[in-house]
Amino acid sequence: MSDCLFCRIVAGEIPATIVHETETTMAFRDIAPQAPTHVVLVPKLHSPDAVALATAAPGVLDDLFLAAGEVAAAEGVDEGGYRLLFNTGADAGQTVFHAHLHLLGGRELGALA
Ligand code: 5GP
Ligand code: ZN
Repeated sequence: MSDCLFCRIVAGEIPATIVHETETTMAFRDIAPQAPTHVVLVPKLHSPDAVALATAAPGVLDDLFLAAGEVAAAEGVDEGGYRLLFNTGADAGQTVFHAHLHLLGGRELGALA
């Protein structure tokens, strides 16, 4: 989808700091980090949100979580702990409608909401 920001990053049309890549996933640093480590993990396949991705290509969700574990270890946040989250829909704050898993770590993150 040429009008999708994350599809354009996957295609290399928009630059991003890529930290991990597999056949089905890509991980890059968030442009507005909310924690010392803030990486966005995306499926290369376009899907508007995580639940839609679960229907379209369920195995890719596994791939995203496996990639998140690799990134957490590489970033050194696996010992202290980190947060993985999918914002799903506007009320949750989703602004890019290409499924993406946020990985946040490197500081005390506190309770949700
Ligand atoms: P959402 O709010 O949809 O869950 O997350 C979208 C994320 O994408 C936000 O954290 C935002 O900072 C990040 N983002 C938006 N535009 C860009 C961009 O052009 N490059 C990168 N690397 N991240 C972006
Ligand atoms: Zn997309």
